[in-house]
Amino acid sequence: MSTRPHIDEEIKLDFNDVLFRPQRSALKSRAEVNLERDFIFLHSRRQWKGVPIISANMDTTGTFEMGVALANYKCITAIHKYYTPADWQIFAIRKPQAVPFVAISAGTSNKDFETVKQITSNIPDLSMICLDVANGYSQYFVDTVHRYREAFPRHTIVAGNVVTGEMTQELIQSGADIVKVGIGPGSVCTTRKQTGVGYPQLSAVIECAQAAHELSAHVISDGGCVSPGDVAKAFGGGGDFVMIGGMFGGHDESGGEIFIRDGQLFKKFYGMSSTTAMTKYSGGVAEYRSSEGKTVEMPYKGPVEATLLDILGGVRSTCTYVGANCVMELAQKTSFIRVNRQLNESLS
Ligand code: 5GP
Repeated sequence: MSTRPHIDEEIKLDFNDVLFRPQRSALKSRAEVNLERDFIFLHSRRQWKGVPIISANMDTTGTFEMGVALANYKCITAIHKYYTPADWQIFAIRKPQAVPFVAISAGTSNKDFETVKQITSNIPDLSMICLDVANGYSQYFVDTVHRYREAFPRHTIVAGNVVTGEMTQELIQSGADIVKVGIGPGSVCTTRKQTGVGYPQLSAVIECAQAAHELSAHVISDGGCVSPGDVAKAFGGGGDFVMIGGMFGGHDESGGEIFIRDGQLFKKFYGMSSTTAMTKYSGGVAEYRSSEGKTVEMPYKGPVEATLLDILGGVRSTCTYVGANCVMELAQKTSFIRVNRQLNESLS
């Protein structure tokens, strides 16, 4: 038997390996571009209309405050899983307008399952459940997706993370409406360093989106966006939604305290598998594992609205450059060119 490893020679691409090729366009102004999409999800048969940008379910970005700020622009916040049913109750009573724009997050534990059951039965308008594990390839995770689909037939289920077409389809066939794509691209993720596992994000999105769309399901491109142009590229690659962590970190609505260093304001931002997060929620890093996330200090950025408007403005502008009337048309109009150098950084 051969012990030679298989090597896939096809080059896989990241956001900074490509640029959009501009095309003739009939659009007069970026104000004409519609960033909203109207979905009907595969299993839940639920309709959802809004701007398909999602704040990540990290405890720094998946806060209720973020949920309220982003709901003003019809964007989604995947609320982190450390809020109690009582916290949810208060949020839903005080900010009912934000409820259609938030998702509840869970891992694979029984405790999470019971919490989700309790919260969703208390808040009927909460229709999206985000099942999130670092490694969406485990059978246990697939079983968890089945379990949620059976218990929540009319809820829209997000499941991830994976990076390949066949596993995207397996999660969809197990009950996921939307598959979350990305292993290792995140700003505070160290999975690739610690494990050597990963997949360049643009290729992962292109391949998983194709696999999901064949089954009339959807994907979220999760992680790796550092600029509005990257968000546009994730949509251009076929991502139906784009999930953002780092770009939404460091704001008023982000979790954590502001602190001052050398006269400058900062906020902490960390991965959910970082030592910081594991110490906070699990009493430390278990002996059998290593931390797969890092902790950074981010310059304080003020209200998230300015960052969100910058992202929305960038994506709108991309649409005008490629002749797409709406964000849904962006993938159809996208032609990427491979580049050696994306930006001129001589003066930065
Ligand atoms: P960003 O937008 O910051 O580049 O990526 C956000 C995504 O990074 C999150 O949605 C999540 O999928 C991923 N992520 C968050 N924390 C960690 C972590 O500690 N380790 C890993 N491997 N990924 C993380």
